Amino acid sequence: MSENTRETENFTSIVEANTHYSKSFSQSELQPQPTRHISILTCMDSRMDPYKFAGLLDGEAHIIRNAGGRATEDAIRSLIISHKFLGTLDWFVIHHTNCGMTLVTDDVIGELLEGDLETAVLEEGVWVNPKRESTANTKPGSAVGKAIDWHTFTDLRESVLKDISTIRNHNLVPNHINIFGFIFDVKTGKLTPVN
Ligand SMILES: [Zn+2]
Repeated sequence: MSENTRETENFTSIVEANTHYSKSFSQSELQPQPTRHISILTCMDSRMDPYKFAGLLDGEAHIIRNAGGRATEDAIRSLIISHKFLGTLDWFVIHHTNCGMTLVTDDVIGELLEGDLETAVLEEGVWVNPKRESTANTKPGSAVGKAIDWHTFTDLRESVLKDISTIRNHNLVPNHINIFGFIFDVKTGKLTPVN
């Protein structure tokens, strides 16, 4: 499939799917405050649907997602807003098995991005930039990625505990917020508490 065909197909299918969705949309009365006072910080991994795996319905929880589900400055910004303006009280930090952020290091990400900006491939456990022809339109790689904290990690339990501690110790997070840690298993769909 060529780039253009793929783009067109994805655009069209999303517009079509939404036409169906909006025809039977019945949630116009929902309020922005999550009714179960829950906020979940988790990874953007496409194999996980936090609303499904946690038995949630629309309007019941905030879901904050990024690569790894890490307690980055921006994730904490969202959590603070989630409580201060929208009343959440129970926060969940959920990392998962086979997370891409455990399969790479900050140094490797920096090196790969300096090489080029196209999608890398995993070859026998090592990420590499495949050889490609560059065109006049190809934007070159850059070393700026070497200065970014990508929040990669190796130990799931440690990363959950570290993120809980980062959130807990933030000056703008009140003491009465409950913070729970879990690991989601992408092979079984099971959540295991981390404590
Ligand atoms: Zn992940």
